[in-house]
Amino acid sequence: MSDHDVAVIGGGCVGLSVAKHLLERDSTLDVCVIEKEYHLAEHQSGRNSGVLHPGFNYPPGSLKARFATEGTSRMKSYCRENGIPLEEFGVVVAATDDAEVERLDDLDEQAEANGVEASIIDGDELREHEPHAAGIAALYCPEAASVDSQQYVYTLAREVSSQGTTFYMGHEVECLDEVAGGHRIETSNGRLTADYVVNAAGLYADRLAQQVGVGHDMQVVPFRGEYYELVPERRDICRTMIYPTPDPELPFLGVHYTRRTDGKVIVGPNAVLAFGREAYRNTDFDLGELKETLGYEGFWRLVASRKMLGVAVDELGKSYRKERFVEASRKLVPGVREEDFARSYAGIRAQLVSDDGQLVKDPVFEHGARSTHVLNAVSPGLTSSLPFGEHVAEQVAERL
Ligand SMILES: Cc1cc2nc3c(=O)[nH]c(=O)nc-3n(C[C@H](O)[C@H](O)[C@H](O)COP(=O)(O)OP(=O)(O)OC[C@H]3O[C@@H](n4cnc5c(N)ncnc54)[C@H](O)[C@@H]3O)c2cc1C
Repeated sequence: MSDHDVAVIGGGCVGLSVAKHLLERDSTLDVCVIEKEYHLAEHQSGRNSGVLHPGFNYPPGSLKARFATEGTSRMKSYCRENGIPLEEFGVVVAATDDAEVERLDDLDEQAEANGVEASIIDGDELREHEPHAAGIAALYCPEAASVDSQQYVYTLAREVSSQGTTFYMGHEVECLDEVAGGHRIETSNGRLTADYVVNAAGLYADRLAQQVGVGHDMQVVPFRGEYYELVPERRDICRTMIYPTPDPELPFLGVHYTRRTDGKVIVGPNAVLAFGREAYRNTDFDLGELKETLGYEGFWRLVASRKMLGVAVDELGKSYRKERFVEASRKLVPGVREEDFARSYAGIRAQLVSDDGQLVKDPVFEHGARSTHVLNAVSPGLTSSLPFGEHVAEQVAERL
């Protein structure tokens, strides 16, 4: 007999949401969460922009659009019910030239198709929202909000813990083996067994999946996103959230200004190849992991295009030279100076890249014999975490 019915590997917002929804379906299940760190929210779920993206940015009909729109409203209710800091600031997506204005029209149509409230405003109206923002027009979406993602993760953990979930903190899963009737899970702190495994290990999810024969034609490539923050006396430069018009060919949103729930204004993130899956500073590297990325054919196919190579070089410049980062930030707020910015934290995106060099844009999960592996919980993974976790839990419940 196994130690647990279900073992969830990874105590980020996705793993915990899966645990929550499994228990909502069947409160008699014996669920455990295995987390390698001694604290929660140490990785993506605690190192992000904390923005609820309401879904104007995603193709109608896609899982991403569905999860983002539903996730935004469910997260708002969850935060209100549980006293998690939430600020419903809304966002302006600024367009600085005619090509961007055209793209705003596409975003506006997408917003309508996805049932998201949004409107196009002119430059003067933009400045009524954000007096320091540049732009000849903007998409204004009042539904975007800022949340405290770390408190959200801890609230989910308290909820599932109060329903009997066992937390194995400081237990890094090193080896996953399928055995008769379930899994043997070797951790840095001893062996556990479970009838069913949900792998939500974020930056390491692909590695664990591959141990049980799942997800072989793709690999996580870690992209670091670094932030600066405005010094306290200049925080009034941004009242809410100011975003650039996204480039549909690039998966990351581009440097933006976000007012957080604690009043800080963060500027970023950029997107540089991280020299290790948890290499948070631009001087950190993990030789083995770097070799793993550089030895991956999908990575070289990805950067083979001229555009991607140009973007990569540009983003590296922003990482190592503050003036380059500030210069890029001036596109949205021309009045900012270097002394307005102080270095802040960084996060690393677990971006799945396929063998043919494509950045996988949709959420991906795959099943093994008695396991489910969340391989691509890409942004807006925080926003989407409640419906996405529920969706995964439904599939797990059917397979249990
Ligand atoms: C810079 C950045 C900005 C972002 N901004 C936003 C945003 O504004 N809005 C939004 O909606 N989304 C945003 N996202 C995306 C969002 O943060 C992620 O999609 C989401 O947090 C993914 O959650 P997760 O639970 O899958 O991963 P994680 O939070 O990384 O959790 C995985 C957990 O697994 C644990 N783990 C890993 N390996 C093992 C192992 N072997 N054994 C045991 N435990 C293990 C890790 O310690 C970690 O706690 C951003 C992401 C980044 C990086």
